[in-house]
Amino acid sequence: MAVNSEVLEELKNRKSKRIWIHMGNSHIGIPVAKKHSATSASEQFQYPLDSSTLKQPGIVQQEAFRRVPDRRRTEHPRRSPLRVMKFGGTSVGDAACIGKVVEIIRAELRESKVVVVVSAMSGVTNKLVAAAKAAESGDRKIVARIFKELRAQHEAAASILIHSAAQQRRLTRLMKDIFREADGLSKGAILLRELTPRTLDAISSLGERLSAPLVAAALAERGVASKAIDATELIVTDASHGAAEPLTDLTRERCETRLCPVLQRGIVPVVTGFIGATRAGLVTTLGRNGSDYSATILGAALDAHEVVIWSDVDGVLTVDPRLVSGVSTIPEISYHEAAELAYFGAKVLHPKTLRPVIQSGTPIWIRNTFAPQGRGTKITPNARPNGGGVKALSAIGNLTLIIVGGPGFIGIPDVLGRIFKTTSAVRADVPLISQSSSQNRICLVVSSSIADRVVEGLRREFASDLAFETMEHITFDSDVAIVAAVGEKLRGISGIVGRMFGALDRHDVSILAIAQGSSECSISFLVAKNDMKKALEIIHREFKLGALACPEIAASKSYETQRRAAESAS
Ligand code: ADP
Ligand code: ASP
Ligand code: MG
Repeated sequence: MAVNSEVLEELKNRKSKRIWIHMGNSHIGIPVAKKHSATSASEQFQYPLDSSTLKQPGIVQQEAFRRVPDRRRTEHPRRSPLRVMKFGGTSVGDAACIGKVVEIIRAELRESKVVVVVSAMSGVTNKLVAAAKAAESGDRKIVARIFKELRAQHEAAASILIHSAAQQRRLTRLMKDIFREADGLSKGAILLRELTPRTLDAISSLGERLSAPLVAAALAERGVASKAIDATELIVTDASHGAAEPLTDLTRERCETRLCPVLQRGIVPVVTGFIGATRAGLVTTLGRNGSDYSATILGAALDAHEVVIWSDVDGVLTVDPRLVSGVSTIPEISYHEAAELAYFGAKVLHPKTLRPVIQSGTPIWIRNTFAPQGRGTKITPNARPNGGGVKALSAIGNLTLIIVGGPGFIGIPDVLGRIFKTTSAVRADVPLISQSSSQNRICLVVSSSIADRVVEGLRREFASDLAFETMEHITFDSDVAIVAAVGEKLRGISGIVGRMFGALDRHDVSILAIAQGSSECSISFLVAKNDMKKALEIIHREFKLGALACPEIAASKSYETQRRAAESAS
């Protein structure tokens, strides 16, 4: 697939062009690391693979696993394509859901080799984080209760899915080991009354370390040779616990030495999403909801043909269906549009998901585990234009608007630099920032969960500069939300902003601030949190997004038809 340099350049440059500047996670592209030799870790968990009852999912081409420069898809097309298929928390939420996942994988294996990536069962990571926090405050009872519930949840699923006594024993032993580890980690936090980012990562990684063996065992039960693999053996990251970044070259090498031989033997690897490990082997996490990112990291490392993200929705929808009714599925969307939607809160994709595939242009699909016959949404470097205009909406609630300024503010040196130094010291992502032209007022928006720390930090940073002024210079409003409208080249289309704000005005929704000169493909603005849902409904209706997909879906071929056509053409 050709590199789309225009999109790449645009994605790299777009944030810096804004008057409102996107911070934190906004840059696209994973860091390049120095080469290190891969160390192969011990095998995690393997189901009996030599049994004659097990179906071999596909013949693997030797040339598919040569060294990195030799195995570009265009130079060495594989006979059977490789697909990375990621299943989210709801897709593996209970035994019945895992049953559906197994059938989807089995169907896919008729045509492709598959690497599976799984999230923790739905709700498990939240519970693990709650247990970690309870341990920090010394609440042994809550910790014990949570682990008991988690053990029961996993054992219940295992007992429904796995009938072979040997497999059940194996899984029970493995779960026991994981819960023993959980116990040890939480005891440490209880004793010290301290929860380091490292310990929090170790505890929150346990959900995926439980679900991957469960899914692998369920596959084996249905005759598919499978092997659970801990991503700590594959995804090498930096040490930014809670938001770790992959080291690309090392990860490629690990995938080559650890994953490719498994695929070559016709075994389906079931990899834990969400987690990785530092070079020294310390467990890290990629950030909440990070299994999507794991899937594209692995997809890029393996030069996969496609990455398919299986979730509980029919694809990328015109807006979050929990907020607005009558939504439509978008058949095709560009990397740029999808990245913008994810950045502005569309949970269906982790905001970093597209970074690893920018260079390769690998298509990403979003499909529904519970309606696999649906086509889903295809995310490509350049999607088909939809005739211009707004394609989808997203929103982030729970934000705080911090206003720094006052008459004495003019002339204070390096104000922006000092603000950013403060936000970065508390690791606060700043989705939007605005500076008034007279420079006596700077507004920044941060997550409400970290707003107190940002305000404290700013008050300290500017204490001496503003000491002689009588007015309050740092104020905040903790009930705001960002609403974003997304569509390719949206900014260049005249009349869109007027139409959008006109509709909001007619329905008495006040706009607190607007992202001026913003990205080419989004228009974002700030409203009171209470107005967020209403604003989304109004814009969705104004641009008739509810009807958007109908003509396009009717005209678009099914996923299978489109895929076969693409494969026979290559
Ligand atoms: P998974 O567990 O599969 O990773 P998530 O809960 O992380 O699933 O993401 C899927 C959810 O994202 C959907 O159930 C939906 O509520 C939410 N969502 C928000 N915005 C959108 C959107 N534009 N399109 C589809 N889903 C969205
Ligand atoms: N289990 C992790 C979470 O809940 C990662 C994921 O589901 O993508 O955040
Ligand atoms: Mg998710």
